Amino acid sequence: MSQSEKITNHKLEIRNTTPSIVWFRRDLRLHDNPALNAAITRGQPIVCLYINAPDEQAPWQPGAASRWWLDRSLRSLDQSLRQHHNQLIIRLGPSLDTLQQLIQQTGATHVYWNRCYEPALIKRDTRIKKNLRDRHHIAIQTFNATLLHEPGDILSQAGEPLRVYTPFWKSCQRFGTPREPQSIAGPMAKPQSFPPSLSIDQLNLRPTIHWDAGLHDHWQVGEQAAQKRLETFLTGAINQYDTDRDRPAIDGTSQMSPHLHFGEISPQQIWHAIGQQCQHEHADKFLRELVWREFSAHLLFHFPSLPTKPMQPKFAKFPWKNDKKSLQRWQQGRTGYPIIDAGMRQLWATGWMHNRVRMIVASFLVKNLLIHWKHGARWFWDTLVDADLANNTQGWQWTAGCGADAAPYFRIFNPITQSARFDPTGDYLRQWLPELAQLDDKNIHAPWESLQAHPLDYPDPMIDLKETRQRALDAFAKIK
Ligand SMILES: Cc1cc2nc3c(=O)[nH]c(=O)nc-3n(C[C@H](O)[C@H](O)[C@H](O)COP(=O)(O)OP(=O)(O)OC[C@H]3O[C@@H](n4cnc5c(N)ncnc54)[C@H](O)[C@@H]3O)c2cc1C
Repeated sequence: MSQSEKITNHKLEIRNTTPSIVWFRRDLRLHDNPALNAAITRGQPIVCLYINAPDEQAPWQPGAASRWWLDRSLRSLDQSLRQHHNQLIIRLGPSLDTLQQLIQQTGATHVYWNRCYEPALIKRDTRIKKNLRDRHHIAIQTFNATLLHEPGDILSQAGEPLRVYTPFWKSCQRFGTPREPQSIAGPMAKPQSFPPSLSIDQLNLRPTIHWDAGLHDHWQVGEQAAQKRLETFLTGAINQYDTDRDRPAIDGTSQMSPHLHFGEISPQQIWHAIGQQCQHEHADKFLRELVWREFSAHLLFHFPSLPTKPMQPKFAKFPWKNDKKSLQRWQQGRTGYPIIDAGMRQLWATGWMHNRVRMIVASFLVKNLLIHWKHGARWFWDTLVDADLANNTQGWQWTAGCGADAAPYFRIFNPITQSARFDPTGDYLRQWLPELAQLDDKNIHAPWESLQAHPLDYPDPMIDLKETRQRALDAFAKIK
């Protein structure tokens, strides 16, 4: 019998219990997990479920780097559950069918999950909740476990969604301190026998072509790794965060973004750990960044068309260029501008890029190359381990100048001056562009400016910065 036949034909062995199902999604952790804690408190056996249903996120099915992370995060979660004498049951979607089947197989009467706030997932979950409640009389309880504040709670005094960051930050402060994180509520009862499960390997999340060596070298995945990374950050880089966070050569930021995206750690855990351990202006600056994540989620919740539509309608008429060749050179890190190429190669090698460099490469694509931000967002979506619909959309719209509270369109980053300012010794460039390693600190930002400095195996700049800047301003003038 195949694994999927075993799953379909499985009959309930536990008859005298009414298990709870905990449906894990973007909350791949045991601590500070309100859905899991509610099930533990109920006291009945717990069936821990993960459903792989990428099509339910269409057209934003997880990209290759996200799938790589998910594979490892699920393994880590399963291991943690096994330490608690439980295990992760892995199934394929559609989610509603799978939940119905598992309810039938286990006799579960209660289902718990932590909410996701992306438009497609809100729709799906609402449908599932209604169906399970109305047709199967299942008790459903859902919780917020991924954001400091429920989207919809932070509004203007007139009850409207806020579109500008500073009032949003102030409203969050007025709203009060985020709730305290919770520890695991107690021992986790397990079912007498576990329902059948696919193996994590059967989800085929890992790449078939091995481009992922750099990701393996760079990241430790899972709840324990997230806690360790937070501790390292809180005992080190946070103490210079405000000054070092813009220096891509320095490990000056937390690199918590993929852990946060997959819910290996909650923002509440980060918020309170900082409150307890660090009280200085650097900590405050860091919390403001964490609240940018809230702001993005809040914008996506109130304006669900953001991933495809500019927040400022006039940008719908912007004269974007259809230029596949230039897009490809940008993706490959072969533009001839070292800071752009270093960033794009860091992204390819590690699945992550420094925030300052994200802004510079994004500005280059949308302003100097006049390529639509949607193409940039798509490339990031496939290559970032922290790809997140709210943050990515917000980051791209902000840089393109068409978003809520966006950088003004005429602020076009100059990649040479940005490079010299934020990587003055060229260490970041040398790390990602070994072909430029011999250049001195001055020439490395614009190798073509000195004939002697220009290495043969590094491309000439693909565009003229001054001309393309003017072209961008002219294009903007047309839609003003
Ligand atoms: C074009 C573009 C695309 C982006 N795409 C993503 C994305 O897909 N996923 C993603 O998580 N972030 C994205 N960002 C935001 C930001 O670059 C990353 O969150 C940050 O670089 C992650 O590194 P860190 O964890 O070391 O950040 P830290 O500086 O340590 O910040 C702590 C946390 O705060 C949040 N945060 C920080 N800056 C921002 C920001 N500007 N917007 C929203 N949240 C923020 C993140 O969750 C981050 O982990 C994007 C930014 C730009 C300009």
